[in-house]
Amino acid sequence: MKTISLRVDVDTLEGSLEGIPKLLHMLDRHNIQASFYFSFGPDNSGRAIRRIFRKGFLSKMFRTGAGKLYGFKTMLYGTLLPAPIIHPKARAEMQAAQSAGHEVAIHAWDHVQYHDLLDKKSRKWLQEWFKRAHDAFETVFLMKAKGAVSPAWRCNDSTLEIQEQYQLDYAGDCRGFEAFYPVVNNKVISTLQVPTTLPTLDELLGWNGMGPEDVNSHILNLIRDDALNVYALHTEVEGGALKDTFAAFLQSLKDNQIHTRTHADWVPALKAAGPPSKVITRCEVEGRAGWVSWG
Ligand SMILES: [Zn+2]
Repeated sequence: MKTISLRVDVDTLEGSLEGIPKLLHMLDRHNIQASFYFSFGPDNSGRAIRRIFRKGFLSKMFRTGAGKLYGFKTMLYGTLLPAPIIHPKARAEMQAAQSAGHEVAIHAWDHVQYHDLLDKKSRKWLQEWFKRAHDAFETVFLMKAKGAVSPAWRCNDSTLEIQEQYQLDYAGDCRGFEAFYPVVNNKVISTLQVPTTLPTLDELLGWNGMGPEDVNSHILNLIRDDALNVYALHTEVEGGALKDTFAAFLQSLKDNQIHTRTHADWVPALKAAGPPSKVITRCEVEGRAGWVSWG
């Protein structure tokens, strides 16, 4: 039997206001429940423009047509326009995901600052980042978060240790193939890691001449029997410019009798299977700029 969990990362205000409703509509049409992870704080997307000048990102922009993925305003947030705080403006869209029966959890306070500068940030800055994200989650959903997945699959020893205090059921801060408990400074962390196991649409598009349909069938072929399969998508991409490709992907899940379940729903079984403990390393994945954590 094949089962997959859909991890929906929401990075921006635009992705919250426009992408969430589109994805909710698509998921509802296929009667599929997904796990939504929200960015709550300042939308500094404009600062991500800096990444254009880094190795690999420009070719990625061309491959995905990223210029079209984000609206003009989004590209200026945090630079010429002040960075808007996402959660007060997108509360209704976030709550709609919960009302529709999807899992809701944390992705970020400030996505861009974390993504770009993680290793340069002090422990105090990181503690504050986590506190703000968790407080905002509670403000929007009137309950404590049970899960969190980090921006860009990046974590370090400090974030893994800081996250412990929130007693989450799980976190998804890396890529990999199986659920596990991270080891930091010879100590096993008690928050289960649920990695993203599959490549993303934006990583594969244009690789070896792959078009959207090739990407979908490539991913379908990578879904393993009786194993953890996690597919990550972005409201800004699959809920935006590439929404037709994602709709076709959802249809092919149905056609191939691939079951879907949320992370939260899967976690008890993952824990019962006795996950290993291991040290998280870093690597590069094809089609993505910079490093990702790997477990
Ligand atoms: Zn993200």
